[in-house]
Amino acid sequence: MVAKPIGPYERLSAEVHEWDPRTIDVAASVAELVQARRPDLTVEHIGSTSVPGLPGKGIVDLSIETTPADIPGVVAMLYELGFQPQPGPDPWPPTRPMPVGSYELDGRHYRIHLHVQPVGGDFPRDIAFRDALRNDPELRSQYEGLKRGITSGGAVEGLRYTHSKTRWILGVYRQLGFAPPPIAPPSTIGILGGGQLGRMLALAGRALGYRIAILDPDEHAPAASVADSVAVASYDDVAAAERMAASCSVITYELEHVGQGVVAALDDRRRPIRPGPYPLKLTADRLAERRFVEANHGHVAEWREVTSPSEVLQAAAELGYPLRLKAVRGGYDGRSQARLDGTAAIGELDGRIGWPALLERELAFAAELSVVVTRNVDGVMHTFPLARNRHDRGILVETTVPAEVPMAVEEAAANLAESLATSMGLIGTLTVELFLMPDGTLVVNELAPRVHNSGHWSIEGAITSQFEQHLRAICGLPLGSTAMRAPAAAMVNLLGEGAPRPAHPTGIYEALLLPDVHLHIYDKATVFERRKMGHVTALGGSVDEALTRAREAAAHIGWAPAPDASPTEPNA
Ligand code: ADP
Ligand code: MG
Repeated sequence: MVAKPIGPYERLSAEVHEWDPRTIDVAASVAELVQARRPDLTVEHIGSTSVPGLPGKGIVDLSIETTPADIPGVVAMLYELGFQPQPGPDPWPPTRPMPVGSYELDGRHYRIHLHVQPVGGDFPRDIAFRDALRNDPELRSQYEGLKRGITSGGAVEGLRYTHSKTRWILGVYRQLGFAPPPIAPPSTIGILGGGQLGRMLALAGRALGYRIAILDPDEHAPAASVADSVAVASYDDVAAAERMAASCSVITYELEHVGQGVVAALDDRRRPIRPGPYPLKLTADRLAERRFVEANHGHVAEWREVTSPSEVLQAAAELGYPLRLKAVRGGYDGRSQARLDGTAAIGELDGRIGWPALLERELAFAAELSVVVTRNVDGVMHTFPLARNRHDRGILVETTVPAEVPMAVEEAAANLAESLATSMGLIGTLTVELFLMPDGTLVVNELAPRVHNSGHWSIEGAITSQFEQHLRAICGLPLGSTAMRAPAAAMVNLLGEGAPRPAHPTGIYEALLLPDVHLHIYDKATVFERRKMGHVTALGGSVDEALTRAREAAAHIGWAPAPDASPTEPNA
């Protein structure tokens, strides 16, 4: 058997090395191999190894431009040479594949990324960037400084390295005349999910002049009445999602439980899905999420993956009670999880949580906090002030801002959120739910790649709301200020109570008699016990004042009894 000229590719963490002149020979040899089969193609050497003197990861980036219809043929030819599909969690879409491989020269293995780009893609920009670096020593030294800065603490994960450079590189592209135009109104923004988050996103989008399409299984979902169109379909209906997407310029999601198939099918650079398929994949799976946070130097409660009741008992012996057992997928508002204190019969959980599950220590935290960060297409990030949250049996009831923690905690939370958003290459909003431990350390509880209940205060409390900020980011518009409009803000959720019945709020008049109180009702058709029906925000001179006011307003709101819930006497 004849060995293929291109060898296997290995994923390594990113380290910056001095420029190696032999990479030029590697590029030339690979170009020759390609041209022996396809003389009509031009193979350009791009990326850091193509710029003499520029240090980098040492990966030889090559690029071929061809028609979209020719891309599968080119890829097949590359596989015959020994190239392989791109590994890792965040591959380029099939419309712009990046086969990988290695080439041996003088006993050394050089790793290769071969970008296959459709005509009309980024090919001219990549070449212009290379030439600018070749010709401008000042630009080169800036780039070198940036790279060395990212890896100054040692090797970093490859994606993290790549996404950390985004902001600077896009700035250079802009100077070179390759600024991607923003997605401007009246373009249509598609939202997967039509709950209250979708509704508030839609309202913010409407204010900016965008059109809104939503997909939700319920035709009367809260966002339906404020959207231009509603696709009534389940969150994993690929065909319905594709039909909706056809009218959209960008797609976003308001929940983590969207089908992976839907997201993969909608992933297209010309009509992107943002924050992106990878952030969703990571955060939809509690085990993947824990591993990601740990890999990025965040703390989490000590945990185990468990696959049966007997494994729970075994792990519990190591971890000690009390514990939390959480479903890997699909939990929200404290559902699909159980508290284990050592007395409950584990067998009973069997049907409820499903296996595998996440088992973790219950932490005696001092407070629950959350931080919302927004990252734009150009890598620029703005973080909202840290929020302090109070939960009742797993469901958020109150948020206050500022969190009234030491400045160092506020800064650590923002740094952590920004680093996690960068590592997942997220475009849009990331919410990080945190436990503040008595010793001042921060433990990550959960990540959500979306706007969040604990950010609702920002509608009236911040210069830019989390909803507008998210839309600005996914549309490539400049982000707004996240500064507060008042010294303090408080948000109190309006939870339903009683048996399911048509939702008619009461006490609206009394609530709004209070000064500086804002009422949001989500227009859900049915109210039931503990359902999130709306929220109240109050601003004030202090957290105490704002919270007292918001609680007072919320206490006025109730839900009318069902019209037919009349006393048992027929004529009463
Ligand atoms: P959900 O997806 O339902 O929000 P979470 O994992 O955030 O699930 O859990 C909901 C709430 O339950 C948390 O906000 C917190 O109050 C409590 N909780 C969850 N895990 C732990 C833990 N390990 N230790 C202490 N409290 C926890
Ligand atoms: Mg949570």
